[in-house]
Amino acid sequence: MKDIECDILVVGAGPAGSSAAWASAKEDLDVVIIEKKEMPTKDACAETLSKAFLEYLPFKIPDRFLKWELNGLKFYYNDFIITRDEDIWWKSHPLNRNEFDPFVLDLAINEGATFSPLTEFIDLRYDNNFMVDKIIAQNTENNESIRIKPKILIAADGVESNVLKSIGKLKKQQTSIGYIKSYEFHDLSLDDFQYGHVFFGEFADGAYGYIFPKSETSANIGIATLSNKNIDAKFDDFLKIIKNQIHGSKMVIDRSGEAPVKNPSEKISYGNIMFVGDTANQNLKPFVEGVIPGIICGSLAGKSAAICMNCISKIESTYKKLIKEKMGEFFIESNEIGNALVTAYENKAKERFFLELGIFSDKLNYKDLKKLKKLKEKEAESYIKKKLSSDS
Ligand SMILES: Cc1cc2nc3c(=O)[nH]c(=O)nc-3n(C[C@H](O)[C@H](O)[C@H](O)COP(=O)(O)OP(=O)(O)OC[C@H]3O[C@@H](n4cnc5c(N)ncnc54)[C@H](O)[C@@H]3O)c2cc1C
Repeated sequence: MKDIECDILVVGAGPAGSSAAWASAKEDLDVVIIEKKEMPTKDACAETLSKAFLEYLPFKIPDRFLKWELNGLKFYYNDFIITRDEDIWWKSHPLNRNEFDPFVLDLAINEGATFSPLTEFIDLRYDNNFMVDKIIAQNTENNESIRIKPKILIAADGVESNVLKSIGKLKKQQTSIGYIKSYEFHDLSLDDFQYGHVFFGEFADGAYGYIFPKSETSANIGIATLSNKNIDAKFDDFLKIIKNQIHGSKMVIDRSGEAPVKNPSEKISYGNIMFVGDTANQNLKPFVEGVIPGIICGSLAGKSAAICMNCISKIESTYKKLIKEKMGEFFIESNEIGNALVTAYENKAKERFFLELGIFSDKLNYKDLKKLKKLKEKEAESYIKKKLSSDS
């Protein structure tokens, strides 16, 4: 068995893990990052970055990733079509994650982090205070076992985190995960390739169907929903709605996956273990946009780890403080929005598709959601319809 010692071990080379490795390596720490898949991992993603969040990033994204821009978003439910394109908040960049994820990983490697590909986290040993002393990983090609002794472990292994499972802290709740069936399509006849298109209805109960163009003739097309029951049939129902645009096209890459809707664990750190990215529910609802938030919080995790190398008991408070300073109320409002969607879905509220349309198009804001909680179903529906028809 191979033995490795390091200051920081990062599990998972998605955007959040690579960013955490980058930030801690920048602080001269000895960092190892392990990834079970081959890079690029062909991640599940609609590959869209909100333009407004770019300025929050801890490093600059090269222009080659941002060459093309979507002017705004169009939202559809029954006869309602709402177009939002009035300011930067509605603009976005299609992203090629096959190139982008290795770019972020390279930043970490260039700062001195050691990358171990095809290396899967298997298990760990920890004490009553959740202080990890060693983890066991395995090379997925030759099955060689590796024992790693980190001072701090950063788990960035996605929504169904094995690190969280290993310490018994992965919460199992209904509707805590959004299920997304999504493909990259080529040779499309898109009605409008300069806008993202977002659809509501039974096929995407609790969330949305989407077309996010990547070029004039290619797009990521998918449905997100709060239940994976009959998800294939629901996806087919959605494709029927957009049949004219997909006629003669090819489905080329499966980008289906899962996204956290509620916190996968009570806390964002236990002992010397920290969680980042999807493992810590660091995405922004309602779209569950997680790439930029994962990078921001990943870098804050790396920074917190460096600050707390010799005062492990302060990890949680330091990490939380840095997130609060950088993200302000974003995650609080985001969770409130997520909860409103989940509640409407669970109650099978009649007005839920209008509510979804209102929330996603931002015709209903945080304050409206509070007001809606107090209204009966009929009153709620007419309140939402009035808001949807308003100009602002
Ligand atoms: C279909 C879909 C569409 C989405 N669309 C968008 C979008 O348009 N824009 C956006 O910003 N966000 C989008 N998201 C969310 C976004 O993809 C995630 O929030 C983001 O990838 C989270 O980054 P991460 O680094 O936390 O996790 P991930 O990107 O999931 O990376 C986790 C990594 O850990 C590795 N790993 C897992 N287990 C182990 C293990 N045991 N050992 C070693 N490695 C392991 C995985 O292989 C993976 O590479 C979408 C999500 C889905 C599912």
